[in-house]
Amino acid sequence: NAVRENLTYERFGAAVRELAQTIADDGYQPDVVLSIARGGVFVAGGLAYALDCKNIHLVNVEFYTGVGTTLEMPVMLAPVPNAIDFTDKKVLIADDVADTGKTLKLVHDFCLDHVAEVRSAVIYEKSQSLVKCEYVWKRTDEWIHFPWSVLPPVHKSGEAPRENKEAL
Ligand code: 5GP
Repeated sequence: NAVRENLTYERFGAAVRELAQTIADDGYQPDVVLSIARGGVFVAGGLAYALDCKNIHLVNVEFYTGVGTTLEMPVMLAPVPNAIDFTDKKVLIADDVADTGKTLKLVHDFCLDHVAEVRSAVIYEKSQSLVKCEYVWKRTDEWIHFPWSVLPPVHKSGEAPRENKEAL
């Protein structure tokens, strides 16, 4: 069985504060935190509070279908954020992990065309990532268990789950 990196909610709480501290120490004050749903939503919420940034936007990207199995390319699901929202804005993209980096690259490249400045913050970055994020809490090459996706979805007590999806 492969080695796994296990992030608990408790360690995540400390990680997101440390990541925010790194960003603050670097002097970057984003106008907007752009989260990549769904994993990046947790990171974006924590960073936005810690950095005292009141604007959070969200973009949906679909890529992983199971542990280590992906679509050919990540796709941005509708609705894509309105470019007008971001003109002249300093944007911080927040995600849980840059693995291949394809998801972050997709969103980063989209932002480059539309915003004043864009930087990326992730909890984890893997060495193969084709995007090098400005802010990384920890580097690993293991498959990561995140506290929000390690358990299967809940279902009504006493009833069978609707379908069996493999937990990421
Ligand atoms: P990438 O496009 O960088 O390969 O992957 C980005 C997304 O894939 C992440 O935001 C995350 O949702 C999912 N992902 C990639 N690597 C891992 C991993 O090690 N563990 C989990 N749970 N999800 C991952």
